[in-house]
Amino acid sequence: MSDARLCATVTARTTAELRDRRDAVRGADLVELRVDSVVDPDAAGALAGRRLPVIVTCRPVWEGGHFAGSEEERRRLLTTAVEHGAEYVDVEARADLHDVVAARRGRGVVLSMHDFSGVPTDLAARATAMAASGAEVIKLAVTAHCLRDTLSLLALPPSDNRVVLAMGDAGVATRVLARRFRSCWTYAGDGVAPGQMPLPRMRDEFGFSRLSASTAVYGVIGRPIMHSLSPAMHNAAFNALRMDAVYLPLAAADFADFVAFAEGVPLAGVSVTAPFKLDAFAHAGHVDAAAERTGSVNTLRRLDTADSNAWEGCNTDVAGFLAPLRNRIMLPGCRATVMGAGGAARSAAAALVEAGAVTSIAGRDAARVAAAARHSQADVAAWPPAAGSWDLLVNATPVGTAPALDDSPLPDGPFTGRLVYDLVYNPRATRLLRDAGDAGCDTLGGLDMLVAQAERQFEWWTGVKPEAAVMRRAAENALHP
Ligand code: NAP
Repeated sequence: MSDARLCATVTARTTAELRDRRDAVRGADLVELRVDSVVDPDAAGALAGRRLPVIVTCRPVWEGGHFAGSEEERRRLLTTAVEHGAEYVDVEARADLHDVVAARRGRGVVLSMHDFSGVPTDLAARATAMAASGAEVIKLAVTAHCLRDTLSLLALPPSDNRVVLAMGDAGVATRVLARRFRSCWTYAGDGVAPGQMPLPRMRDEFGFSRLSASTAVYGVIGRPIMHSLSPAMHNAAFNALRMDAVYLPLAAADFADFVAFAEGVPLAGVSVTAPFKLDAFAHAGHVDAAAERTGSVNTLRRLDTADSNAWEGCNTDVAGFLAPLRNRIMLPGCRATVMGAGGAARSAAAALVEAGAVTSIAGRDAARVAAAARHSQADVAAWPPAAGSWDLLVNATPVGTAPALDDSPLPDGPFTGRLVYDLVYNPRATRLLRDAGDAGCDTLGGLDMLVAQAERQFEWWTGVKPEAAVMRRAAENALHP
């Protein structure tokens, strides 16, 4: 298996700024200088005084870049870069610049192709044809619309001189798992290409340099998923314990997409979030009691059987929901009302019923509320919850989540009970919590639950308790970098 280098892609407005940004790069093996991004492209100026090896790229508009000048100007720029000792120049396979490749007999040339619409059906044939050009490195950048799209990159015959990556959110794994995808390097930067990760995230959160082809891969599936705090929390715990594992955001198009990808990579375990918790429950061959009670699974791990895609499921939302409540209110006999009728409401209601609270569910859709109440063995309450009807009020709707900071599921109150628990964790002080606090209630935000359910997931997968506070700190930093 080839080693894989981390290449920081740098753009700027001017060549002088490009040099400054190039020199500010820390923790990368290579720097890609995007001379097409500057208003005064100057290959010699961009290269002067460099400390790291570089790839000089002057991407034309017709290949997704910014350079709008002539091919003759591009030829001059790339030739100047070669003359000034650039370790690599990037030449598009579609460009009529074969003389640039020939002049170096392919040495130090990255021959690249970019497909912004999908994965070409003749990808393997293209890779073979591009390799025949003699270029030192072949770069194949395709677009993944779903996780499964990335598998055609894994299926390519092995090569030590190839960079492969899938653009788009669904392609993140191809970048972080460059070694597994047999890529000789991968790019990081400020979203120069769709799905590209910032360098600090690749370096520090995913720990790119310590990943190998045999690193255990975990992740989170959901839609949308790129905002999830789970990668920050789980990677922090893996890093703190020096475990050979990594955790990725996985933008699955649907549950079948996840199943196909999980087998191809393969994945050791996943967190499951909306809208896949019911699918995960149905797919798991074996589930724990909390999952059975709620009909929902938020954590899967691969079963150790001959069937490579057999999974075991559990629900850590139930215990995670209860953990922060323990010291805040006596649950037996407490009148608890849960707002919302989705997966989180079911887990919260099931947890409260089990803890002895007199539990009801309130929501805007009577049929969904009735189904959730039946499933959780809770009662149905009026919507909105009436004054004096609850001691503990739980918000299990997404109302109030950033950026809708002024929204509240209960904009007019009244807040007559003792404790208001908002499962929304971004922002930490939602309008609901602010209003409830102003009215004299105790309040509890959703971050404690988020961390508590993640700690249980981590322990269920690895058998190791994560270090106290590591996951919380990572979640807080990811919320407020
Ligand atoms: P879900 O399955 O989509 O359910 C959302 C529920 O909220 C639905 O019942 C929906 O009503 C209701 N709802 C949405 N907008 C509403 C509005 N304007 N007024 C009244 N009700 C509204 O989502 P979920 O997975 O249960 O998650 C719900 C929230 O809990 C999310 O914000 C999620 O981030 C949070 N959560 C937090 C944690 C944590 O660890 N802190 C864990 C899980 C979930 P309908 O039934 O009418 O569609």
